[in-house]
Amino acid sequence: MSIKSLTPQFVEHFPERLKPGELYLAMEFATAAHLCACGCGNKVITPFSPTDWQMSFDGETVSLKPSIGNWTFKCRSHYWVRSGRIEWAGNMSQEAINAGRRRDAEAKARQPGRPSGEDIRQPETQTPSLLGKFKKWLRF
Ligand SMILES: [Zn+2]
Repeated sequence: MSIKSLTPQFVEHFPERLKPGELYLAMEFATAAHLCACGCGNKVITPFSPTDWQMSFDGETVSLKPSIGNWTFKCRSHYWVRSGRIEWAGNMSQEAINAGRRRDAEAKARQPGRPSGEDIRQPETQTPSLLGKFKKWLRF
């Protein structure tokens, strides 16, 4: 059964078993968790950061942006959470998914020390080390 809305639950820690239709928000960890809105039972973790998701709470309901694309699940569901309601997004082409992943990876690569997403491969960044720069300068 697909879920039509998510009720915010502000928690300190995520419970072991999430209930469908609840959006658990652990603000201390800047992370939310819910069960996939398609009803498949997969746990969806949405960390909040400038390069992940942003949440807004209007006092009653929560909105998340950007959309949630569960490409790693069998269901491949894709939806928005707007004012607590699930709004299904159209099917995205594989190309659009890959482009989105590239953008994600690039955005994350600019923030060193961040753990990478499970299915996002980060490109190697070839920034010369400080020592290298220093050596160059010595030679110069
Ligand atoms: Zn699902």
